[in-house]
Amino acid sequence: MEDCIFCKIVRKEVPAEIVYEDEHVVAFKDIKPVAPVHILVIPRKHIPDLTAITEDDVELMGRLHQAVVKVAEKMGVAEKGFRLVNNCKEEGGQVIYHLHFHLIGGRKFKER
Ligand code: C5P
Repeated sequence: MEDCIFCKIVRKEVPAEIVYEDEHVVAFKDIKPVAPVHILVIPRKHIPDLTAITEDDVELMGRLHQAVVKVAEKMGVAEKGFRLVNNCKEEGGQVIYHLHFHLIGGRKFKER
C-alpha cells in the first residue's frame, strides 16, 4: 500500500528501529513505548486489521506468532512473560490500519 506508514517501514522508506525481520514478518520498537520493551510485530503483507484476515493468511498468522516468541526471546522477556495486544478498529483503539501486535514487557501488568 502506497501511503501506509507501516508498509513504508517494511520497505525501509521510513526509519524504524527494526529488531527482527524474516520473509513474512518485521518487528520494530514502538516510537511511544508504554513499557521497557514495546515492539510492534507486523506482517510484510498489508492487512488493514485483524478482521480482514482470510483463509490465505492462516499460515502467516502462525508465523507472526512464532516471530513474537523469537522477538520476546531476543528482547529478554520470554522467560518472565509479556503481554501481546491487538487493537482492532475504532473501538479497539486502532490508529494504524496495518495489522500489528504490540509485544509489551519488562514490567508487571495488572491482571486486567
Ligand atoms: O493504536 P494502534 O494499535 O494502531 O497503535 C499504533 C502504534 O504505532 C502506536 O503505539 C504508535 O506509537 C506506533 N507507531 C510507531 N511508529 C510510527 C507510527 C506509529 O511505532 N512511525
